[in-house]
Amino acid sequence: MTLLDKTLVRLLPVVPKPVVQLFSARYIAGATLDDAVESVRALNGVGKLATVDVLGEEITREEEARAIAQAYCDVFAAIEREGLDSNASVKPTALGLDLSYELCRENLEAILHEAEKNANFVRIDMEDSATTSDTLQLYADLRDRGFENVGIVLQAYLRRTLDDIRSLADLKPNVRLCKGIYVEPHSIAFADYDAVRANYVRALEALQEINAYLAIATHDEWLIGQALERVAAPDRRRTYEFQMRLGVREQRATELVREGHPLRVYVPFGEHWYQYSLRRLQENPAMAGTIARATVGRMLGRT
Ligand SMILES: Cc1cc2nc3c(=O)[nH]c(=O)nc-3n(C[C@H](O)[C@H](O)[C@H](O)COP(=O)(O)OP(=O)(O)OC[C@H]3O[C@@H](n4cnc5c(N)ncnc54)[C@H](O)[C@@H]3O)c2cc1C
Repeated sequence: MTLLDKTLVRLLPVVPKPVVQLFSARYIAGATLDDAVESVRALNGVGKLATVDVLGEEITREEEARAIAQAYCDVFAAIEREGLDSNASVKPTALGLDLSYELCRENLEAILHEAEKNANFVRIDMEDSATTSDTLQLYADLRDRGFENVGIVLQAYLRRTLDDIRSLADLKPNVRLCKGIYVEPHSIAFADYDAVRANYVRALEALQEINAYLAIATHDEWLIGQALERVAAPDRRRTYEFQMRLGVREQRATELVREGHPLRVYVPFGEHWYQYSLRRLQENPAMAGTIARATVGRMLGRT
C-alpha cells in the first residue's frame, strides 16, 4: 500500500455516508431480509451457495441479542420458504457473548433448533482474540449437547491455531479457515503477510489430518492454489468448499464453480451496513482512491 493509499484509507470514516453506500453496495445484499433473499437467489442461479450474515451493531442489552437471534430464525424460515441453498453465519458478540456466556449459548441453541428443522447449518464466526476461547468453548458445548449442524472458524494469523486444531480433533469439526481480520498484538498473532500465509497452509494440512470438513475462506490467489493442490481431488468433493465475500473476486469464484468446486458466498444484510462497508473498503485501497476522487467531486458539486 502506498503512503497515499494509507492516508486515503484512514480518511474513509469522514467520507459522507451516501458516498460510502454507493461504493459499498457490491459488498452488502441490502438493508432487508428480502434483499438478502434476492441476493442468494441470484447466487444460487449461477451455482454458488451462500451463507447469510445479519449485520448487528454493538450489543449492550439482552433484548438486542435476542432480537438478533430472532432475525436469524427469520432467515432460516425465509431460506426454507424460498427454496434457497444457503446456511447462516453468526457472531457470538451479536448474540450477547459480551453480556453473558449463557445468554449467547441460549441464543445459539434457539438458532440451531430452527436450522435443524430443515437440516440446515450454522457457522459461528470468529471475532477478536478476547473471544477466541469462549467461542471454541461454545462450539464444544453445543456439540456436547448433540448439535451436529454447527461449525466454527479458525484464524491463521493466531499463533494458537495449530493447538486449537489438535484440541478439536475428537469432534471431527467443520471449520472455516481464514487469515483473520482483527488487529492483534504481535505476541499472539503473526503480522507478516508471508508468515500468515505459511500458517494458513500448515493449518489446512492439520485440518486435513484430523478429517475436518474444510471451508477455505480466502481471496488470496496463492492460497487458493495451495488449497487446490491439497484438498480438491474429485473424491474429496464432499469434504471441502471455497468461501468468498459478496462483491470480492466474483470472476474467480465463478471459475471455481465452473471447475466443479463447491463455493459459498458470504452475504451480509441489515440496517447496520455502515461499519461493515468501511471495513471492506479499507481492505481495498484502489477503491479508497476512487472514493476520495468521488468525494472531492461531490464537494465541488459534480456528483
Ligand atoms: C467467507 C469469509 C468469511 C470470513 N469470516 C471471518 C471470520 O469469521 N473471522 C475473521 O477474523 N475473518 C473472517 N474473514 C476475513 C478473513 O480473515 C480475511 O481478513 C479476508 O478474507 C482477507 O484475507 P484474504 O485471505 O482474502 O487475503 P488478502 O491478502 O487480504 O486478499 C487477497 C486479495 O483479494 C482481493 N481482496 C480482498 N479483499 C478485498 C476487497 N474488500 N475488495 C476487493 N478486493 C479484495 C485483493 O485482490 C487482495 O489482494 C472471512 C473471509 C471470508 C472470505
